[in-house]
Amino acid sequence: MYWADALVENLNGTQLISTGISPSGPIHVGNMREILTGDILYKASLDKKLESRFIYLCDDLDPLRKVYPFLDGSYSQYVGMPLSYIPAPEGDGKYSDYFLKPFLETLKKINVNVEVISTTGLYREGKLAEAIDIAMNHREEIAKIMHDVAGYDIGPEWYPYEPRCSKCGKINSSTVTKYENPYAYYKCKACGNEDKADIRKDDGKMPWRVEWPAKWYALGVTIEPFGKDHAASGGSYDTGKEIAAKIFKISPPVPLMYERILLKGVGVMHSSTGVAITASEVTTFAPPEILRFLIARNDPGRHIDFDPGMGLLNLIDDYEKMERAYFGLDESNNENFKRIYEMSRIKILDAPEKINFRHIVTLIQIYRDDNSFFSALKRSGYDKDQIDDYLKNEIVIAKYWLSKYAPENIKFSLTDKQFLLTDDQRSILQEFLDKLASAEWTSDSIHTVIYDIIGDRKLTPKDVFTLFYRVFIDKDKGPRLGYFLSSMDKNYVVNRIKSLIQNNSAQ
Ligand SMILES: [Zn+2]
Repeated sequence: MYWADALVENLNGTQLISTGISPSGPIHVGNMREILTGDILYKASLDKKLESRFIYLCDDLDPLRKVYPFLDGSYSQYVGMPLSYIPAPEGDGKYSDYFLKPFLETLKKINVNVEVISTTGLYREGKLAEAIDIAMNHREEIAKIMHDVAGYDIGPEWYPYEPRCSKCGKINSSTVTKYENPYAYYKCKACGNEDKADIRKDDGKMPWRVEWPAKWYALGVTIEPFGKDHAASGGSYDTGKEIAAKIFKISPPVPLMYERILLKGVGVMHSSTGVAITASEVTTFAPPEILRFLIARNDPGRHIDFDPGMGLLNLIDDYEKMERAYFGLDESNNENFKRIYEMSRIKILDAPEKINFRHIVTLIQIYRDDNSFFSALKRSGYDKDQIDDYLKNEIVIAKYWLSKYAPENIKFSLTDKQFLLTDDQRSILQEFLDKLASAEWTSDSIHTVIYDIIGDRKLTPKDVFTLFYRVFIDKDKGPRLGYFLSSMDKNYVVNRIKSLIQNNSAQ
């Protein structure tokens, strides 16, 4: 059974699937596993006819931890202050919104419909006040859980609440001295300020290990995917489920631990170091369903190697094959191919209408103007009157991918360079022209003609292929030859070969 269906199979009643990210910097493609795993579980839950909600908690009351490399030095004054209280690196607005905005635009493109909830807002509207009060009244029991489960050494003076200093604005520098509902009295170690925080406002927050189960309690979370960092023994899920059961008297959500997405050649991505591909950039060089497919087809427990180069092209091939299998036009060796396709697609189709992405990549390198590109598309079976919006987007994506991530062996441009042919080479090219006269201009028949030539002359395929690639793109390798030649206009191919032969004969 497909992983998401298996997880919801035995659930009953209303479901709340919760995800979250701290918007402390550019949200990279590795973070997409959180939200897409949640989205796929949400769809599986809806498919099982369970009343369901899907939320994304933006942890914008978290403090800025340090001056990240992508920030300028002036941000040192904001370290320790909540992300929703400090200015954006450029323009007006808040720091957290600045990094959230492109991420939310990306979610729209990849068909993720999620309710976005600001954690600052939850505190500000008093939605966590009851949970804070419960935690404050059970602080010794929570401290014991933190000690027993995670090995934390917490003193008797500890309170599960971090006030936001009313003077210096830092949220990680104050110590609570007394609690009387609804006020936590505190003293700030950074500036010496003494004041009281109202737990019904965003005057402070719970530490993460308490805040997490408090959100489950306050919002009624039933399913939550999370990364392996939280899932470690003694990690925040372990303490969270104890606090949920013993303090908040609730069952913890059904957990789903997912592994990381690793970037080929880099490994783990970190927004903080800038060595990452942002989520929004992926939608500029991969069709939107491919990002979904990357997450949907992999079991969450297995890490994903993301290769934006050749690997991306292969990934798209796999998606297109699965789409054809879904419509009974191909076979798939993946037993869950139907569900994977359903979870990946952006819109519901009656039949595959996607032009093979590899084909687009080839054609845009052959045809630089729109008209000839469109004619070539028509020759390859595209039956629309004009290039539709979907295909327009694919073309933009293919061009960007070629310019930034495509490996050298995929890139080419047509050449009209003259060069010296051996007698054998000239004779091969002439035989090709002769045989073409009675052959159809299709990938298969060109392929047959070329293999006839190879067979007759007892040559290796490589000898002949290399010759053709040199003739047309001045390289040793290129796209599959029969297909490549058929993608071009027949007159162009014939004239190019004739010109080369004539030029050589004249010498
Ligand atoms: Zn202070």
